[in-house]
Amino acid sequence: MDNDLIAANIAKVLQQVSSAQEKYQRPPDSVRVMAVSKTQSAEAVRDAAAAGLTDFGENYLQEALEKIKSCADLALTWHFIGPIQSNKTRAIAEHFDWVHSVDREKILRRLSEQRDPSMAPLNLCIQVNVSGEDSKSGITPRQLAPILALATQLPNIRLRGLMAIPAPAEDFGAQKAACDSLASLFEDARKEHPTLDTLSIGMSADLEAAVAAGSTMVRIGTAIFGARR
Ligand SMILES: *Cc1c(COP(=O)(O)O)cnc(C)c1O
Repeated sequence: MDNDLIAANIAKVLQQVSSAQEKYQRPPDSVRVMAVSKTQSAEAVRDAAAAGLTDFGENYLQEALEKIKSCADLALTWHFIGPIQSNKTRAIAEHFDWVHSVDREKILRRLSEQRDPSMAPLNLCIQVNVSGEDSKSGITPRQLAPILALATQLPNIRLRGLMAIPAPAEDFGAQKAACDSLASLFEDARKEHPTLDTLSIGMSADLEAAVAAGSTMVRIGTAIFGARR
């Protein structure tokens, strides 16, 4: 995709976010847009950065490491948002600023141990399964409290909030219901851990429902870069 198209798409997404913020009485600039650049080239990342975005999300480690390296001259914030195997935690802890997809204690402990203490703490969200049977990733809501408590105690990480990937739904009502269920877990979690500030939910297809439900970070791929290869 050419760079003018990426810039135009980004302008459109930012416009959608700001009109949703207004429509649902959210404060201006309360929703951050992460560009999900998985399968896209480093050139595409540069085009999105030139259009003003600074947050980039990646799912596949090898591919991400190459892009992070080739864009090292840009001041970007990198988010790991894909499934995490134990043998990948060291590279994730070393090269990313955020991890959104932590759903097991073992992974949480390894990220904490492997993050260099001289670096800024690794920002971290716990991924919750809000769609029951329909989704395999994410911790169940019942298992959430203990992993949040552990995350606040471990060194070298900073617990920021919750993330979910709801099962795809066509209609706004179903999208909103899924986003609301994560938002309500987030409000409960904040009673215990008031410093949590990140509700990572919303993709290209459910951006408006996510902003309506209180998302603070939307993760947008296809609406910015076009269909994935
Ligand atoms: C791919 C992906 C996205 C972006 O999805 P789009 O529908 O392309 O906007 C967001 N979050 C996660 C976790 C993803 O894997």
